[in-house]
Amino acid sequence: MNYESFLIKYAEIGLKGKNRYKFEDALVSRIRETLKEFEGVFNVYKEQERIYIDSNKDFSDIYDKVIEKLKRVFGVSDICPIKKVAFTSDYRELSNHIIEFVKNVYGDDPTFTFKVKTRRVNKIFEMHSDDVSAELGHDILERFKNTKVDVHNPEVRLFVEIRNHINIYSEKIPGPGGLPVGTSGKAMLLLSGGIDSPVAGYMIAKRGVVINAIYFHAPPYTSDRAKQKVIDLAKIVSKWSGRIKLHIINFTDIQLAIYEKCPHDELTIIMRRYMMKIAEIIAERENCIALITGESIGQVASQTLESLSCTNQVCKLPVFRPLIGFDKEEIVDIAKRIGTFETSILPYEDCCTIFVAKHPVTKPSLNHIHKSEDKLNDVIDELMNKAVDSQEEIIC
Ligand code: ATP
Ligand code: MG
Repeated sequence: MNYESFLIKYAEIGLKGKNRYKFEDALVSRIRETLKEFEGVFNVYKEQERIYIDSNKDFSDIYDKVIEKLKRVFGVSDICPIKKVAFTSDYRELSNHIIEFVKNVYGDDPTFTFKVKTRRVNKIFEMHSDDVSAELGHDILERFKNTKVDVHNPEVRLFVEIRNHINIYSEKIPGPGGLPVGTSGKAMLLLSGGIDSPVAGYMIAKRGVVINAIYFHAPPYTSDRAKQKVIDLAKIVSKWSGRIKLHIINFTDIQLAIYEKCPHDELTIIMRRYMMKIAEIIAERENCIALITGESIGQVASQTLESLSCTNQVCKLPVFRPLIGFDKEEIVDIAKRIGTFETSILPYEDCCTIFVAKHPVTKPSLNHIHKSEDKLNDVIDELMNKAVDSQEEIIC
């Protein structure tokens, strides 16, 4: 069957009371953006608390591609390919449409168990919903002899919505859930080339947040390939989150200064604190109101509760760590599902792994760290300014 329209369902947006229209409008915009490459084929709009994607062209050749794209739009709970017919108050006419729909989708002699579910919003149609469902069930059994009703566990659920027009559908393709990107502000993701931070960015974008990203590299200690890997990861995350502005910071001089002047067992924690400070400066410039990292308690020495708390002290902005309670395996599962895993495991070095101590502190004391950082006093401001001013921006 060639469908002409999709009905897009959204779950949580329905709970937003007076702000609901903002969420719906954002979702319509995101869907339009997603389908932009098919210019002129689709018309996306909302009507009576529903979002529709209509087309007056045959789009069967791009159908699968369209579904794949819609499955990445946060805020979508179900994608339903529908047959849309003009409103009629005549039951017979409705029944004919349903019979034709079943024949088109399932063939002339289908053998499924089914249930009909009717929703009547337009009360000009006088029969009650349950009566319509029962009658339609009866008509289907009559016409298709090898079908059977099963109200508890049917193979096919046939949905009929009587509105200003009539929607008929039997397929609900699950969307990603979440909230439309752009409805929850903007945040800065510390994006490394690892497995965790892309997943963290995905999870926060799923809650409607626009993502900027910042990557610290240390040329010539880290290579162009390592940088390209992070750009590639940002591009993969952007297929879910929409465009990501990626800020690339040259961290070499700061790392060398830390390496030269500070105790080596505190290197990672001090480096991490300067990363956060710089991330915060760029975040504020970009109107980002939070930072995001891929940290999870206890994963490595710099992610013990004591280390995390020590890193946190340098920031005024809230730092969100959506993976904080996740095991590595759980993070890997998400990374595989969203398509970042294969790129994340490419073996290019990260700046944090170049200058590491053999035995990093796991319970840093803030006092000690402050004392160590004091040794950087005469150089660090200038180095930070230089790092910030020479940042490179790439739209991914
Ligand atoms: P990931 O897999 O995200 O790299 P990880 O397990 O390797 O995480 P760390 O290297 O300790 O953990 O990094 C913790 C977090 O710090 C990362 O999730 C990321 O948010 C941030 N981070 C680490 N290195 C960088 C970097 N070079 N540039 C930007 N952010 C970084
Ligand atoms: Mg890492």
